[in-house]
Amino acid sequence: MNPLIEGFLEFREQAYDPQDSIMPDLVKHGQSPNYFIISCIDSRGNPGTIFKPAPGMFFAHKAMGAIVRPYKSGTALAAALQFALNYNKVTEIIVLGHTHCGAVHALIDNIDDEEISSFVEVARAGLEKAKEFANDQTHHDNLHRHAEEQIVLQSVKNLEGYPSVATALSENRVTIKPWIFEMEHGDLLEYDPENQKFMSILSSNNENIKGKVG
Ligand SMILES: [Zn+2]
Repeated sequence: MNPLIEGFLEFREQAYDPQDSIMPDLVKHGQSPNYFIISCIDSRGNPGTIFKPAPGMFFAHKAMGAIVRPYKSGTALAAALQFALNYNKVTEIIVLGHTHCGAVHALIDNIDDEEISSFVEVARAGLEKAKEFANDQTHHDNLHRHAEEQIVLQSVKNLEGYPSVATALSENRVTIKPWIFEMEHGDLLEYDPENQKFMSILSSNNENIKGKVG
């Protein structure tokens, strides 16, 4: 059987069949997700997989490299954010980058494909910053890793220029979290402004989670 159909049957069994199943309730009463996740199109870091979400938990937007362009009216992301922040009660926007990101590789390697390069080019400033870090003795010299991090931070900065986000931020209705899914160790990192670096969410500030993960 097509593995997608197989998965859908399993989902249907869990979300529709039990007495207190979640989907009929969400259909009847509507959705009210707390989170809006912007992630890469990568098939390995899909938030729908790695966060094991229940239906109705988050809005999802995807773009190569989780790259957020500077604001322009009428884009898919601008409309989605407006809907999430002005007509729903999203309180947390997460920009979820990941390690081994093909979009970041494409940018670093100057991929010879006009369609792809014209999109990832938007993140050039993040790459330039990453080069400074990689050349600075006080940081590690992994350019790809710095680029993945700096591009997430650049995306967060660009997000702040979206009118719906700017308004929600000024009214303290929303926070923005820069996250990285570190695929090789199965770790989740968040940018810590105090230390000015991405740090593991699992080991730094939650001993309970750490214990659970082992
Ligand atoms: Zn990616």
